[in-house]
Amino acid sequence: MTSAGRFAPSPSGELHVGNLRTAILAWLFARSTGRRFLLRVEDLDRARAGSEAGQLRDLQAVGVTWDGGVVRQTARGPLYAEAISRLEAAGLTYECFCTRREIQEAPSAPHAPQGAYPGTCRNLDPAELEFKRSTRPAAIRLRAGAAEYTVRDLLHGEFTGVVDDFVLRRNDGVTAYNLAVVVDDAEQGIDQVVRGDDLLSSTPRQAYLASLLNIPSPEYEHVPLVVNNDGARLAKRDGAVTLQDLADAGTPPAAVRDRLLESLGLPAGPLAKALAAFDPNSLPRKPWVWSGP
Ligand SMILES: [Zn+2]
Repeated sequence: MTSAGRFAPSPSGELHVGNLRTAILAWLFARSTGRRFLLRVEDLDRARAGSEAGQLRDLQAVGVTWDGGVVRQTARGPLYAEAISRLEAAGLTYECFCTRREIQEAPSAPHAPQGAYPGTCRNLDPAELEFKRSTRPAAIRLRAGAAEYTVRDLLHGEFTGVVDDFVLRRNDGVTAYNLAVVVDDAEQGIDQVVRGDDLLSSTPRQAYLASLLNIPSPEYEHVPLVVNNDGARLAKRDGAVTLQDLADAGTPPAAVRDRLLESLGLPAGPLAKALAAFDPNSLPRKPWVWSGP
């Protein structure tokens, strides 16, 4: 399969300038390395009606185009189920009946990193298992054989992060993000993942899971986020941050695109021009402060 990069938004609202900047970067990384560029809608959770159409329109308005059709995660349940079955067959999963509160209140295992699942349900005996099954539906967790895992990121170098017995399928039946992402990237031939660096910390979990499924890890580029004046990750509450808001404030999409390109040290204008000048080594490594329309 041809190699590919991707942008994978969650249709939970409008994209803001931070999302659009990451999308432009993902497009530039893929196109500058001769990859296809795919669009995947991560709609397993928190999908809001109408969001997807608006997001696709906004991407096109700043010049981000993709190859082939749009893939939606809600249409891919059988692929995720198959991957979980493979892990189950290899003895790499277990049922977990914990509520969020029980996990928070459980004493953590010695040397366990902060926030790691304490392992409450890892070794239930058959009687306990039978009783718990009668009380509430189970989530499926990975039986991880490592506490940490190291990935290589083009911008961050080697990064070692926590691996714990993370959830593969929630107890409401929804596939967990970490499992879906790994399965989708592999199935779509995606070997380059460009996304915001707030996701770097979950990357070791995904790469570890990929290794258990005999999937080669993609190359990673976790790019700096756009932040507000207080240094916090940009959000809708920060005022006019969507293309629609900005157009209403007198800044048309092409001007927004140009500002985003300039923030990356790239020439304004159509993305093809930025592509010709694109050099990953000279990308800014710090968050970019959005100062308003
Ligand atoms: Zn549990």
